Amino acid sequence: MESRDLFLVQERVKTFKNWPFNDKNMCNVRNMAEAGFYSVATGVDDADAAKCFLCGKELDGWEASDDPWAEHKSHAAQCAFVQLGKKEDELLLSEYLSVIKQYMINEIKRVAEVAKEKVDDRAKSIRRKCLGRK
Ligand SMILES: [Zn+2]
Repeated sequence: MESRDLFLVQERVKTFKNWPFNDKNMCNVRNMAEAGFYSVATGVDDADAAKCFLCGKELDGWEASDDPWAEHKSHAAQCAFVQLGKKEDELLLSEYLSVIKQYMINEIKRVAEVAKEKVDDRAKSIRRKCLGRK
């Protein structure tokens, strides 16, 4: 279950439990979290899978020299967090609030999509039943 606090950099840091890079690498945990990423690893095979808390872009196959900000920018230039291009503690309050607002909007959209899928599935099965009885 995803935490709702992933817009906080320290919460994102906590998700990197088996991150395959160390502090000497460009894509270390701190830089990853500051660039908006949190770990979505489920095991050894996808230990370097990370996702942006805001735009939801998922990236893996990281190289030690990769710059998380640069990668984020090149793969998800439309991301509102990338567009601000600042670390969390450098954001103005208004910018920070706009990030949180966007995060909440995305969360609501995601929840709404899941709900819509459920309704669609239910409608499909009812339709199938109705057709079957003809
Ligand atoms: Zn993003």
